[in-house]
Amino acid sequence: VAKPERNAPCLCGSGSKYKKCCLAKDEAQAMAKIRSQREVEAATTRERAAFQARYWAANELVAARDRWELVEDGLDDLSNSVINLIDERRFDDALKACEQLLQDFPDVVDGLDRYAAVYEAMGNLMQARDYYQRALEFTNLPEQQSGFDDEGREWRGEKISEIEARSGFSQHRLQVDVPGNLASETQ
Ligand SMILES: [Zn+2]
Repeated sequence: VAKPERNAPCLCGSGSKYKKCCLAKDEAQAMAKIRSQREVEAATTRERAAFQARYWAANELVAARDRWELVEDGLDDLSNSVINLIDERRFDDALKACEQLLQDFPDVVDGLDRYAAVYEAMGNLMQARDYYQRALEFTNLPEQQSGFDDEGREWRGEKISEIEARSGFSQHRLQVDVPGNLASETQ
């Protein structure tokens, strides 16, 4: 739209010069238009950034899930290998796998449970009992509690009672010297 000269009669037909009449209003409108264009641009930029952030977050999530699946597979493999080694009565290898489990996955209970199972299969009831006890205590830790159901706790509790009954545990405890850290941790 063509603008009149400042001193020309205003196009609105008021009879006043443009600079005395509609100039200020037109300039304000032009400024408002520029401002709103800038706002649209800024909003677009923000939206793009937000989209980018969502995109990266989604990517990160997928990557994290991939990493966790790898970890979980490793845990499962190692955990299952202990069971197989027990079946094959390769107890030394089974114990090594347990040690690896505890080393690689210290935040899960599997290593303790598997240690208990190996010692139980070996007939080493004292050690088995201690590891079931440690596993039970692990599931009772405040930060672990929500991750375990009562069924698992009951199961470990029953295992402990059963082993104590089988081995005459209370008498054994007075006679058998449980090695090092196990003894102090199970008081
Ligand atoms: Zn005017």
